[in-house]
Amino acid sequence: MKELILDMEKYAKDHNVPIIEKNSIAFIMKFIKANGIKNVLEIGGAIGYSSILMASCSQDVKVTTIERDETSYMECLKNVKKCGFDQKVNVVFQDALDLNLPEENRYDLIFIDAAKGQNMKFFEKYKFFLADKGAIITDNLKFHGYVGNSDKIESKNLKSLVKKIESYIEFLNNNEEFVTKFYDVGDGLSISVRK
Ligand code: SAH
Ligand code: MG
Repeated sequence: MKELILDMEKYAKDHNVPIIEKNSIAFIMKFIKANGIKNVLEIGGAIGYSSILMASCSQDVKVTTIERDETSYMECLKNVKKCGFDQKVNVVFQDALDLNLPEENRYDLIFIDAAKGQNMKFFEKYKFFLADKGAIITDNLKFHGYVGNSDKIESKNLKSLVKKIESYIEFLNNNEEFVTKFYDVGDGLSISVRK
């Protein structure tokens, strides 16, 4: 397991896969353990790094992870097999905005970590599947320090992406249904729960 994790970190580095920062996944794992979380839905699985670590939190944790990129999906399947988590991590190869989950599915934790400009869409689509006392965690809200400084960004694409993250933060802050706390951990995390 430990070796697989190190291999995945190396693969991510070599192939420019933006896996979660170490202190962020440690923070989430603590949250999973402290809250007895069992069912996790992850949007943006990449090579399975965060899903495998979340699934490793306890025997009871099951993760469904959605990934639209075929290469990452194949790599994810391989990694899940390698650590014997076939029954714990369910990898879905689809765009999360097109996927129709069974209506009765509920998750104690939904982890949003996919295309950063689409956070609001993921949040609005998947909040339906959140268990009553569940939480939605979103990663990369600082986006390498760019968030909050979008006016100074020259590149048009980057500027537009960062502006979307800024408006997502505003959306969370002004949300009628959810209350959100922001954490200065890794690349910036939020935890949203129903009011
Ligand atoms: N959670 C992973 C890292 C995910 S990187 C970890 O920390 O280990 C973001 C991933 O989201 C990429 O692999 C990208 O292909 C995927 N992604 C982006 N938009 C998506 C979408 N709409 N549906 C499914 N996957 C998406
Ligand atoms: Mg991330």
